[in-house]
Amino acid sequence: MLEKRRHNHTEGIKLGIACTPLMFEIEHFSDDVTLIKTATPMEDRNPIMWAIAYRVGNILIDAGCPNALDDIEKYAATEQIEEVYVTHPHEDHYGGCSAFAPGSTIYAAEPDIEILKNPPTLPEFFQFVWGQPKPLEEVEKLPSKFSVGDLDFEVVPLPGHMQHMVGFYEPHRKWLFSADAVPLPTRKFIAMPEENIPVMVQTMQKLVQMDIEVLFDAHKGPVRSPAQHIQARIDFIVETQKKALKLHVEGKSIEKIQEILGLEGPWYIGLTEYRFRIDHFIKSLLFDKAEK
Ligand SMILES: [Zn+2]
Repeated sequence: MLEKRRHNHTEGIKLGIACTPLMFEIEHFSDDVTLIKTATPMEDRNPIMWAIAYRVGNILIDAGCPNALDDIEKYAATEQIEEVYVTHPHEDHYGGCSAFAPGSTIYAAEPDIEILKNPPTLPEFFQFVWGQPKPLEEVEKLPSKFSVGDLDFEVVPLPGHMQHMVGFYEPHRKWLFSADAVPLPTRKFIAMPEENIPVMVQTMQKLVQMDIEVLFDAHKGPVRSPAQHIQARIDFIVETQKKALKLHVEGKSIEKIQEILGLEGPWYIGLTEYRFRIDHFIKSLLFDKAEK
């Protein structure tokens, strides 16, 4: 199915037309917060996965996926966005930034600025799912805090999914814009090479302790009173880690551990060219360390 669609998609690009209209939706959460949702649709017209950028006043937190760039550019042309704050350099978060440059200031964590200026060429599967970001000429270093009207944001490090990933916390409203700090599936067992799962768990444990009324997740959308939502994900990973460590001590191979734990990937996992892997996840559980 994907082969055919990918072929059509490539054909569409060659012809200069998108054969499947890409998805761009605006959803108001409150007077202050608007969701800008972008995605590539499946054949049934449902999104493969939403990438959600959040607008607060005249700033954006992330900028959507590059496949929706035409719509993002139309949005950028009619709306006054002054600043874009990038949480981390994955294509579904910064891929829409080029639509706002050079009119808006783009901010990113200092070690990630180079990635935004020279995006890596993505495997074909991710070009299909999210799209290939365009390079940005100017990217500024993230400040430690910033204000939007009467809202005051603290930049909070959220390592694990990516080393330098950040979120934005607003203490008066108790809002956390959490990027990809909390995995979408309740049972996470696939990891990317840049993920450090013990550090991800440590970050989630910090989030459970924080006073958060709304967690603005970049794929799930707003989650109110998120402690249970986060704890369920911690529990599954910690439980899996215990079992994996026990099997590892008994001398079982990674492959065998995966088999015994019954962790099976989705049908498309091979198409990701190993960017998504179950053995990355198990190895990270066994060998990566949480930070002191
Ligand atoms: Zn990400």
